[in-house]
Amino acid sequence: MNILHIAAECYPAAKAGGLGDVVGALPKYLNQAGHKAAVLIPGYRQKWIINQPFEHIWSGLVRLGDIKIPVHIRRHTGDSLGFELLIADIPGLFDREGIYTDPQSGFGYSDETERYIVFQQCALQYIQSLDQKPNVIHCHDHHTGLIPFMVKHCPEFRNLSHIPAIFTIHNGVYHGSFGWSKAWILPWYDADANGLLDWAGNINPLACGIKCCWKLTTVSPGYLLELLASSNGLEWLIRNELPKSQGILNGIDTQVWDPESDPLIENRFYNDISRFKSDNKAVLRKRFDIHADQPLITFIGRLVAEKGADLLPDAIAKFLHEGGKASFVVLGTGDPNLKDAFLTMKHHFTSWFDTSIEYNEALSHQLYAGSDFLVMPSRVEPCGLNQLYAFRYGTIPIVRATGGLADTVTDVSQPNGNGIRFDHFSVDALAASFHRATAVYHHPEAMNQLRAHNMSLDYSWEKAANSYIHIYQST
Ligand code: ADP
Repeated sequence: MNILHIAAECYPAAKAGGLGDVVGALPKYLNQAGHKAAVLIPGYRQKWIINQPFEHIWSGLVRLGDIKIPVHIRRHTGDSLGFELLIADIPGLFDREGIYTDPQSGFGYSDETERYIVFQQCALQYIQSLDQKPNVIHCHDHHTGLIPFMVKHCPEFRNLSHIPAIFTIHNGVYHGSFGWSKAWILPWYDADANGLLDWAGNINPLACGIKCCWKLTTVSPGYLLELLASSNGLEWLIRNELPKSQGILNGIDTQVWDPESDPLIENRFYNDISRFKSDNKAVLRKRFDIHADQPLITFIGRLVAEKGADLLPDAIAKFLHEGGKASFVVLGTGDPNLKDAFLTMKHHFTSWFDTSIEYNEALSHQLYAGSDFLVMPSRVEPCGLNQLYAFRYGTIPIVRATGGLADTVTDVSQPNGNGIRFDHFSVDALAASFHRATAVYHHPEAMNQLRAHNMSLDYSWEKAANSYIHIYQST
């Protein structure tokens, strides 16, 4: 089958989080299974995109209100990806360094609505120009949530209405909503289709994608159940669309995340797990002020409420004040208040706490390899990839049991346990889980068995890709 993924991110071209990882891996595994998968993303001014070879393949014009924007599609001509990568160049809207936020100010771009409305139309115009159209259009998150609507209800794109659109929710917290006062910048649409755009008095691309898509998927089975119970006002809608919905647990790209060959870590795995861990921890000690002889507990991720990053300062302080002995490292960007809190902690808890406030792909790999534990105290976790990377690099996850974390992490007290779980979103529960982690750490044999067990777990994409293929083939 011929599948076109349309998304805001795709690793390694442009990644802000798990969406980029998934869109950069699933197509590769679809191709390996004998299908033809391509990816279309906006052309940000990101280093990878600037440095890679591309060829121009198509140009068009998209109307945005009363202006027309020239748009261009370029195809990646390198052969490193394992799938066809297409970039939509949209001058004035996407030729910026950041994906969602301005790296200088740290604030999200205020013309998000205009950006994605133009991108989605550009994608559809490009598809119209193809002799061989995709059999399926796979849309990801609210940035592409209007596509299933546009192909059915915009006269301009109706000749694509026979192509089924799959919509995957990676993160239901962001809806991309905007007021009806902006309806005029949408492409012309059937007057009686207003209701499909609307949710709670606004135009809501996430809700619209859910309503209009042919099949809906979420990135874990547990997350689909959670959205039914709590999804920022979409609960009733998701319940209604349940018959066409399925939760599919993400895989990880085991070619990128491979401790035996990862070029982003200093010491690769070769037979000896304790050596692999201790050598890589030693590398981290050159960069971070942490104790050599104490467990290292790391957080990697967006410093936002969803990820429970706000629980860390108090829980770490409580644990250390109670006499707990472990060093902590935080790698992340996000809420400026949390950033300040972490920078202050670095001085209060010298050698027990250190942080790097940045997005750094290479450092994240080194941290997965050199840490003993990875903490994920998430309020919400649609799938969570970090715990799966942690498994693969012999790092034990400490997680709050929610969404995909509950689906993948079994507490060490249970048969086949692979991590430390806690249920209540509270400082006390998190601090207690740090104490449990340090207790496990001080039993080297058990710790090494656990590491070996986790490194052998199989969360590769093949299984997940087959579930998607099953959906595509049922069209
Ligand atoms: P999200 O909700 O942010 O998408 P996921 O767990 O699905 O969460 O994926 C997060 C991905 O982003 C992982 O690959 C993780 O390693 C990466 N990541 C997050 N923050 C950073 C950072 N500051 N530096 C490097 N990688 C990061």
